[in-house]
Amino acid sequence: MKVPHDLFLGFVKLHILYHAGREPVYGLWLMEELAVHGYRLSPGTLYPILHGLQEEKLLVSEMRVVEGKSRKYYRLTSAGRKVLEEGKKKAQELLQELQ
Ligand SMILES: [Zn+2]
Repeated sequence: MKVPHDLFLGFVKLHILYHAGREPVYGLWLMEELAVHGYRLSPGTLYPILHGLQEEKLLVSEMRVVEGKSRKYYRLTSAGRKVLEEGKKKAQELLQELQ
């Protein structure tokens, strides 16, 4: 699955918000994490999603140099945390209904 279907895009975004809320994350790490869950996103798909989440002020980014590599790290904002909490509730409700 290269370009996520609309249906899965929300799941992917929730994953990103969740992980960015636990610790700052960078693009390649997210790509690998999402692949574990079966979402194979190319950088050309992932980065616009990250950019969109920043535009919505749900994530903020900063450049950091780690082991000589300069990387953009993303973390959750307080607005992002609210959306994540709401998303969790909605996902739980949906799961219950689908069972
Ligand atoms: Zn995950």
